[in-house]
Amino acid sequence: GIERIKEVKGPTQGEAGEYKGVWVFIEHQEGEGAPVSWELLGAGRQLANALEVELCGIILGQGVEKIAQEGVFYGADKVYLVESPVLAQYRSEPYAETIASLVQKYKPEIFLLGATTLGRDLSGRVATLLSTGLTADCTQLSIEKDSRLLLQTRPAFGGNIMATIVCKNYRPQMATVRPRVMPMPQRDPERKGEIIQEKSLVTENEVKTKVVELIREGGSAVYLDKADIIVAGGRGVGSKENFAYLQELADVLGGTLGASRAAVEAGWLPVAHQVGQTGTTVRPKVYFAIGISGAIQHLVGMQTSDVIVAINKDPEAPIFKVATYGIVGDLFTIVPKLTEAFRQK
Ligand code: FAD
Repeated sequence: GIERIKEVKGPTQGEAGEYKGVWVFIEHQEGEGAPVSWELLGAGRQLANALEVELCGIILGQGVEKIAQEGVFYGADKVYLVESPVLAQYRSEPYAETIASLVQKYKPEIFLLGATTLGRDLSGRVATLLSTGLTADCTQLSIEKDSRLLLQTRPAFGGNIMATIVCKNYRPQMATVRPRVMPMPQRDPERKGEIIQEKSLVTENEVKTKVVELIREGGSAVYLDKADIIVAGGRGVGSKENFAYLQELADVLGGTLGASRAAVEAGWLPVAHQVGQTGTTVRPKVYFAIGISGAIQHLVGMQTSDVIVAINKDPEAPIFKVATYGIVGDLFTIVPKLTEAFRQK
């Protein structure tokens, strides 16, 4: 038989009122804050202003006070800093437990994390420990004035609709946002804020996992979300060999190759190049969409790029609706001409 799912008990609506403030998890790697954390502080600032509450960062690690200070420069009023040898390397258990206990102590009403590999792992665990909800991969966050609820918008049903999700009775309202979805705020090194030292109660022998070794991914790793120029190709490119045309254009511009899912599924480029709902979200200065029709699942991953150049032989292709510049024609004629023209510059 099927068992009824028991309702998870979070704070009741009355208790929810005790929760105040917006928190952002500050992720870091090798002594540097993750850009998505600063982007979230930018987004968090808008939410905190709308609610007239404080914006706080929370950072865990060892020897990370400098990064906590960066959090202030990017807009946090306070940063909770938890340093301990147990937290030196990221591990789900001690991180989730430490954060959950601090959330219980300070009761923020909103808690945002980056939808990175680490953030995805951590957010689910923290939400479970706190018996609250979590909306993954939001593309927009805003406040409904009267109810003070966080409106969490994300693509749903295979990207066919944009769903706005609210977490009515449970606190904090938790959401993850992918890198580059929110704009990067200005860093202000003059900004003043408070760094508050906190303690983790988790001891090493309680933690079941140990980090034995860190192995860096090979030099071939693609960092699409950090690229300023992306030259992306779709099914229209026709073959793996034909991607050489796009590679040449990318080389001349110092860009990175991107791809639609159709091109990745055809085996023309590895999945690390995929842009879109099930790939990477990108926000480069210039995005070339070449032989890509502009399906909604592709658009959600690239439509906030500063400048979009679309090349497609079908004048009705939906990609032209989001394009800054549209070129109707055969990519095999246009791309080599563009490459040549840029080479002359
Ligand atoms: P097509 O739609 O086939 O378009 C090819 C285009 O090339 C056409 O517009 C054609 O006019 C043009 N063309 C052909 N020859 C030439 C030429 N010689 N010169 C110029 N133009 C030419 N897709 C993604 O990209 N990313 C995702 O993350 C993603 N996630 C998905 C998740 C789900 C749950 C689902 C259901 C789908 C997802 N998709 C995703 C797939 C998406 O729906 C589309 O199928 C896909 O984006 C189509 O890729 P395309 O534009 O390359 O191919």
